[in-house]
Amino acid sequence: RASTGGLPSAARVDELIAEAHARYRGHGEGAVADYIPILAEADPAGFGLSLVSTEGGLHEAGDVAVAFSIQSISKAFVFALVCEAIGHRAVHERVGVNNTGLPFNSVIALELNEGSPMNPMVNAGAIATTAMLPATSGEERWQLIRSGLSRFAGRELPLDGEVYRSEILTNQRNRGIARLLDGYGRLDAEPEETVDIYTRQCALAVTTRDLAVMGATLADGGVNPVTGARVVSAEVARDTLAVLAACGMYERSGEWLFEIGLPAKSGVSGGIVAVAPGKGALGAFSPPLDAAGNSVRGQRACAFLSRALGLNLFAST
Ligand code: GLN
Repeated sequence: RASTGGLPSAARVDELIAEAHARYRGHGEGAVADYIPILAEADPAGFGLSLVSTEGGLHEAGDVAVAFSIQSISKAFVFALVCEAIGHRAVHERVGVNNTGLPFNSVIALELNEGSPMNPMVNAGAIATTAMLPATSGEERWQLIRSGLSRFAGRELPLDGEVYRSEILTNQRNRGIARLLDGYGRLDAEPEETVDIYTRQCALAVTTRDLAVMGATLADGGVNPVTGARVVSAEVARDTLAVLAACGMYERSGEWLFEIGLPAKSGVSGGIVAVAPGKGALGAFSPPLDAAGNSVRGQRACAFLSRALGLNLFAST
């Protein structure tokens, strides 16, 4: 299908995606995450790019069929589901929407802010957000998250059991964060169970194509442009993108916005989703990360494509 909705012609988008892939394929900077043992086994050469337009057009290059765990990118979509269920005011009051300026797994950020996790895109805020999803049991909460994220992707997302097991055996820090939140009276569910669900949501397996469809759903005002199904309201899509702009790339969010000018979210397995409202979304994957935990090739490719496709939100021409 042709890409419209403010993007160049479909042929031109294909060309630019291929060019972005060719430009950064040989790039050698960054290091694969190893604090979750299984992630250290990722192929550092892996690199895929997908773009899905709000018309449902698909443009891809590289390792677009390779599955990887969604990790922190799940935080954006769980936030959207919680806003859809109970309204964005509740999440704003409980969790906040300001950048911490500190790493995603910081405990200091919590302590400095009287137990407020500050935003739903760092681990503390994401764990608190997961606990806010209304459900009568942990199992029901997990099923709501899995089915909700699957609606964003337009297909049933599988759990990567190996990633889940690797992380659940080594995530003492996230358990500590959940206990601390609970101690401050800021966790709406049992800490161990909430961390378990959070760890599962991070271990859902996606491809760059899934990420691009999920992002394009936010770009399309909450309607999945491939399935045509409404996943969240236009207001929730808008509010989610605002939080991504401020906090999606952790303490590098300001630099990202300055360079690339798009709301985005990264994860430690090397995924990035970058959303151009009304136009579409990019899904990128490449495991080597910078010090903040953002994919190096993914960032470069998004910067190139944001310029070449005219996606920067702050550009007047
Ligand atoms: N599951 C990871 C964690 O909680 C997600 C972190 C990330 O992707 N930045 O540490």
